[in-house]
Amino acid sequence: MDDDASTGEALPELCDLCGMAISDGSELYGFAPDSSLIHPFDPKFDGKRRLTACSAEHMTQLQEEYKHRPFIEEEQWAGKMGRVFDQHPEGLSIKDMIEATGLTRKQLDRAIAWNNEQVRHHRRNN
Ligand SMILES: [Zn+2]
Repeated sequence: MDDDASTGEALPELCDLCGMAISDGSELYGFAPDSSLIHPFDPKFDGKRRLTACSAEHMTQLQEEYKHRPFIEEEQWAGKMGRVFDQHPEGLSIKDMIEATGLTRKQLDRAIAWNNEQVRHHRRNN
């Protein structure tokens, strides 16, 4: 039996811009591109950050902010590869990886190079 959804109080949503708690259902939802976001299993939602705002004004401001952030394709592709690795801990061939991620060989190579660069950068700073 699973009645988690019907019992208990819903937590108020918080505006991503001003942090105001919204508990009367007036919150607005939107999406903004974010290359660091990878959905746990559904590629449709990759690269999309869910935004919550207390007003249309704040939603517009939030979306403006995200517009100025660089969307790094390689980061997004590396994230997709990471998700496939999680689903195949035994490892898989490059051919299977191409099939599972829907990426091209070239995109995979760029994602791997980007990832290696991040690792090197991380080591240098630690
Ligand atoms: Zn707000």
